[in-house]
Amino acid sequence: MKKLIEKVLAPPAPHMVGDGFRVHNFFPGGYSLGLQRMSPFFMMDYNAKVEFPASERQRGVGVHPHRGFETVTLAYAGAVAHHDSAGNSGTIYPGDVQWMTAASGVLHKEYHETEFARKGGAFQMVQLWVNLPAKFKMTSPKYQSITTAQMGKYDLPNGKGRVDVVAGEFHSVKGAADTFTPIQMYNMYLHDGATINFELPSHFNSCILLLEGQATINGTTVKQDHLLLFKNEGTDVSIETTEDAKLLVLSGEPIDEPIVAYGPFLMNTKEEIIQAYEDVNSGKFGYLED
Ligand code: MN
Repeated sequence: MKKLIEKVLAPPAPHMVGDGFRVHNFFPGGYSLGLQRMSPFFMMDYNAKVEFPASERQRGVGVHPHRGFETVTLAYAGAVAHHDSAGNSGTIYPGDVQWMTAASGVLHKEYHETEFARKGGAFQMVQLWVNLPAKFKMTSPKYQSITTAQMGKYDLPNGKGRVDVVAGEFHSVKGAADTFTPIQMYNMYLHDGATINFELPSHFNSCILLLEGQATINGTTVKQDHLLLFKNEGTDVSIETTEDAKLLVLSGEPIDEPIVAYGPFLMNTKEEIIQAYEDVNSGKFGYLED
């Protein structure tokens, strides 16, 4: 059965995160969808394509903590660098993904990569906060830097485009990321005149972000920078294009647990939030130079 569409959301008014990310928060705040609506995806910040002027200073967000979830950053234009107190660092370029498991806690900083900052130019990225179930919230931090070359590839017939399988599986092509709960995450690079069909489980929370161009998804035309939210009914998805289009497909099994979200922490109870602040203040998240 065809997957039913709940609604198509225009990008909400943007705000700055630090001085490096101009984001449209589609959820949970932007449309008050609720904390659980896209579980396990708790947050989606979308930096629609914007030009940053050349700068000797690296724009971004300084040292800050996270606990209880994963930050997943997908780059589409420009370059994003990262350092964390677990000793991991990396830079991602268009098509790459940085999958940081904060879990029990890290300090990190996120900013424009030096060379990109110096030259300036188009910048486009997505950051997701992927929740962890209670049993994994206090596991060790982890970092997966996944280049587009490392991702599973599905090629459309007749050179009509390709799918990068970031996580999960797409028509038997396996994704690159290790995830704690079942997640399907695809970057789709489609050419004009492409048709692609696939299935997403009906009980998974699912959405598609149009990053470039436009596409008709199950009969509904979705414009650039808009987010299509599926109902949890039906499985079959069909995408057709009449121009080149780039899409991010997200689908995940909901985590059926209470959420208490405060600042940079995502826990199950208020006591765990208080504990997180105590642990940051007592140095349990380690040290990271600003
Ligand atoms: Mn962060």
